[in-house]
Amino acid sequence: MKYPKLRELKEAFTALIKGPYTTKFPKIAAPAAPAYRGKPEFSQEECVVCGACANVCPAKAIEIVETTNGSSGLPPPGFRRMVLHYDVCIFCGQCEANCLTEKGVHLTQKYDLATLDRKECLVKVEDKLVFCEYCGEPITTQKHLHWLVERLGPQAFSNPNLFLASHEEIGLLEERVSRKKGAPLGRSDHLRILCPRCRKQLTLKEEWGS
Ligand code: SF4
Ligand code: SF4
Repeated sequence: MKYPKLRELKEAFTALIKGPYTTKFPKIAAPAAPAYRGKPEFSQEECVVCGACANVCPAKAIEIVETTNGSSGLPPPGFRRMVLHYDVCIFCGQCEANCLTEKGVHLTQKYDLATLDRKECLVKVEDKLVFCEYCGEPITTQKHLHWLVERLGPQAFSNPNLFLASHEEIGLLEERVSRKKGAPLGRSDHLRILCPRCRKQLTLKEEWGS
């Protein structure tokens, strides 16, 4: 009985000098393990708002919001916004692993995510949409087109959408002649921004007249 008492006394003295063994969480959060997958965050610079991560998210935690008209709580008109709800995220890392640019979204080491309001659990990124000049459907974002131009280099000039986007980016396309509303697709539409469906329709019409 004598020895354990001495040992406890020794431990009490050590604790007095060294301080408690417990961490100071939540006042000071201990760093997470190097491979820890915590709160996902978009990079405002590297994300091109393409939407690929939303397609691979198994928990459907990433929402794509597109607007053609303004409304409160929504992105400005003509914008696409990606909203990642990390309260339903399962921290699987699929978004990061399948990101188009490989740097658009990253699972950080942040783990202290408790909150009383789940509506706060959002991270967002947005960019301007590019619309089809014939049918008006959104095609993708400006950043996405510019990223493709940079990635493809001279090969981008074989695609009219990318060709026009690259000229717009370097300021060679200051004035665009707007398309006459309701006019049928014709030869002059080859050098316009068109969605894949309208581009196909134009090509078929040119080749076979239908
Ligand atoms: S970590 Fe997984 S669940 Fe969370 S947003 Fe990314 S893909 Fe979705
Ligand atoms: S660039 Fe990456 S993070 Fe951004 S929308 Fe595309 S896949 Fe998601």
